Amino acid sequence: MSEKIRILDDITINKIAAGEVVERPASIVKELVENSIDAGASRITIEIESGGKSLIKIIDNGHGIPSSEVSKCFLRHATSKIDAVEDLFKLNTLGFRGEALASISAVSKLEMTTKYKDESIGTNIYLNGGKVVSKEAVGTNTGTIILIKDIFFNTPARKKFLKSDHSETITVSDTVNKLAIGYPNIKFKYINNGKIMLDTPGDGIQNNAIRCVYGREISSNLINIDYKCNLFSVDGFIGNNNIFRSNRNLQHIYINGRFVKSKIILDAISEAYKSIIPINKHAICFINIYVDPAKLDVNIHPAKLEVKFEKEREIYIELREYLKAKLLKNNLIAKYETYN
Ligand code: ADP
Ligand code: MG
Repeated sequence: MSEKIRILDDITINKIAAGEVVERPASIVKELVENSIDAGASRITIEIESGGKSLIKIIDNGHGIPSSEVSKCFLRHATSKIDAVEDLFKLNTLGFRGEALASISAVSKLEMTTKYKDESIGTNIYLNGGKVVSKEAVGTNTGTIILIKDIFFNTPARKKFLKSDHSETITVSDTVNKLAIGYPNIKFKYINNGKIMLDTPGDGIQNNAIRCVYGREISSNLINIDYKCNLFSVDGFIGNNNIFRSNRNLQHIYINGRFVKSKIILDAISEAYKSIIPINKHAICFINIYVDPAKLDVNIHPAKLEVKFEKEREIYIELREYLKAKLLKNNLIAKYETYN
């Protein structure tokens, strides 16, 4: 083996880096749908086959990509969303790393058809393992269609780690459900092996999206929340004491539109519900928190699943107290305490 230090070529770099953002079909679905949301789509269709292993197809009616930029968007660190690191602190898009398309295309066979809103002709491009195979002008509607086939076909070691079709499907469904509830103003359609699994109204009413995803039993046991203080504002729905779960799957927390796992928010919820639901059970909630992007770090996790608040402790206390007061007002806390 040569001992010379080499700079890896772009295709190899992308294949390696893909490990960070492209773990499984669900992570691809998340990245692509987030791109559709950032493109201002009002309708997004997600179609998968074999748990997303053989096919992932995303169709959106967003603004599309100008023909002159179609090749560029597959380059690493190619983004239209930020120019400099300061922009992260006034971010109003889900994406900013410019990595998803480079990573996804490096480990799959990808076809994109897109037309920019201000252009009359669209573009169709094929990439195989990150290499452009063909690119041509086509007639198509404004928006973007992306097809991903055979993920990890060129990284067999990673392919081996994919789980069964069934379990990959469950994770994709979970991802789609979270996005659909987080964006009730977008009409989401989700098709699995030819069967429509979800079709949200896209009417902007979050409880309607929740009902579509989780059914009436959940949606009819929710309390509306709405609060504003100088640290954050919050809206959404929290469950009453008729509904709870033994895991946290039905605790959706969105911060500035991004689904995240936030320990301080989860702790605030658990504390608020402590006296009204059984121990080891978890409340159901769909909470949208809005904070000034200047007071939030979204760049601490490659898949952006975690964020860091500037004033963690204060936000924790304020939210916990608001939720407690809300439960009290709905006679939930008091009702339980009389049984004690
Ligand atoms: P990021 O989202 O971080 O910018 P991506 O690799 O996900 O990086 O996408 C690269 C660029 O490609 C985006 O910045 C955007 O300009 C363009 N793009 C990707 N998907 C879409 C889409 N569905 N509609 C319009 N533009 C898109
Ligand atoms: Mg993106």
